[in-house]
Amino acid sequence: MSNRKGKLHIYNSLSGKKEHFEPIHQDHVGMYVCGPTLYSEPHMGNMRTFINFDMIYRYLLFLDYRVKYVRNITDAGHITNSAGEAVDSIGKAARLEQVQSLEIVYKYNVKFQELQRIYNLLPPSIEPTATGHIQEQIEIIEKILDNGLAYVVNGSVYFDVKAYSEKFNYGILSGRKVDELAEETRTLNAQDEKRFFADFALWKKANPEDMQIWRSPWGDGNPGWHIECTAMSTKYLGTQFDIHGGGLDLKFPHHEDEIAQNCGSFGCNPAKIWMHANMLNVNGQKMSKSLGNFFLPKEIVEGTTPLFSKGFSPDVLRFFMMQAHYRSTLDFTEEALNAAEKGYTRLSDAIQLLDKLPTGETSSFDVSALVDSFYTAMDDDFNTPILIANLFEAAKRVNLINDKVDTISLNDLKLLSTHLIAFVKEILGLQLNVAQSDAKLAPVMDLVLDLRAQARANKDWTTSDKIRDGLAAAGIIVKDGKEGTSWS
Ligand code: AMP
Ligand code: ZN
Repeated sequence: MSNRKGKLHIYNSLSGKKEHFEPIHQDHVGMYVCGPTLYSEPHMGNMRTFINFDMIYRYLLFLDYRVKYVRNITDAGHITNSAGEAVDSIGKAARLEQVQSLEIVYKYNVKFQELQRIYNLLPPSIEPTATGHIQEQIEIIEKILDNGLAYVVNGSVYFDVKAYSEKFNYGILSGRKVDELAEETRTLNAQDEKRFFADFALWKKANPEDMQIWRSPWGDGNPGWHIECTAMSTKYLGTQFDIHGGGLDLKFPHHEDEIAQNCGSFGCNPAKIWMHANMLNVNGQKMSKSLGNFFLPKEIVEGTTPLFSKGFSPDVLRFFMMQAHYRSTLDFTEEALNAAEKGYTRLSDAIQLLDKLPTGETSSFDVSALVDSFYTAMDDDFNTPILIANLFEAAKRVNLINDKVDTISLNDLKLLSTHLIAFVKEILGLQLNVAQSDAKLAPVMDLVLDLRAQARANKDWTTSDKIRDGLAAAGIIVKDGKEGTSWS
């Protein structure tokens, strides 16, 4: 669509600054995003992160980059919980439901794929799984061991953060200092096999209750949590690529440890830019499975959550998310969703008017500047709230043109229409279902209203009232005004 590359700036969590975006290989972008752990149905918070990266992917495509977007599926491995213990959450769910681990993963992956369709997410280029890349993970662990940055204890392998810190900067992303971590070590008794508090598992010896087990040079076991992302990002994007993303809660330890694994095996930080999407909150607290304050995406659409009085369409939910910058937290309330619904309707109503607008010799406002403002917002670290404010400005102009207060030339109308529709549909990913169904309904409504007008002209009030009441029952409101009859 557009050849306006070269102006994009992205906030890099690594430098703490917005940086001018220049891909490593001209016109190509490699992007890796940490995907879901499929031991349960993804909640709305998870979806916020995936919707944000979908918007980022869409804008890169719109700028005409060839993007390879890799988003993994975690279907194996021990994930560290908040107490620092390695937990096999998929195995736990499998034992609970008395099925095999991959049945759990498959069941929730079907749901996840369905949610992606409902919320209009573009499929990534590849969705690789951890279980499909055990050999690659083992090979990287061997490299780290060869480089003297890991040690084997009783069938498990741990990353040696102290040895690593002599050569590299552990804490480069999160700003944590190894010395401060050392303080924590003294207060923690030698609770496990690790030599140092910050050391983390690359490979965990199998437990008798483990549902999935793999062979390795160190015996039967499971990969640690972080190593799968190092293995899959390297395999599909190389040892250095452009963007690595995920939710802010993954910055430490997951992403810090990914950097350590990459430096410890290939000698370099895998990504030029590290991006972190902020959390969806409920009453100021992160929406999470463990806190129990989560909403499932489907129940919000269907209106079956007891906390909300009605349902909201996926478009409205997406619009609601896009009204916040991806790096800001966002609170999930019915009031905010109602406001988003109004804003969304205002925008889609304006889009419906586009092909009916009158054109004139000249335009009474600077259409190119307005269109430029869409790009400027997105080029400034994907600033969707500013973009939406500028789209509202365009919607206001559309209404003024419709009311013959403003004028627009034919060429400017084409420019405005294509960009307004592209930024709303292709970049924000809104489907405008309502607008589309209204457009389909329009010829039918013309016919019905014509019949009603005839009935009224014949003073056949029974028929005209029957038509109006029938339409009202179908959710269509008919209004008779000075300018004629309208419907919504
Ligand atoms: P998980 O399945 O727990 O690995 O999470 C999948 C993705 O969702 C990760 O990128 C998390 O950072 C992200 N995530 C989890 N909770 C939230 C939340 N409340 N808001 C936004 N993103 C979240
Ligand atoms: Zn990851």
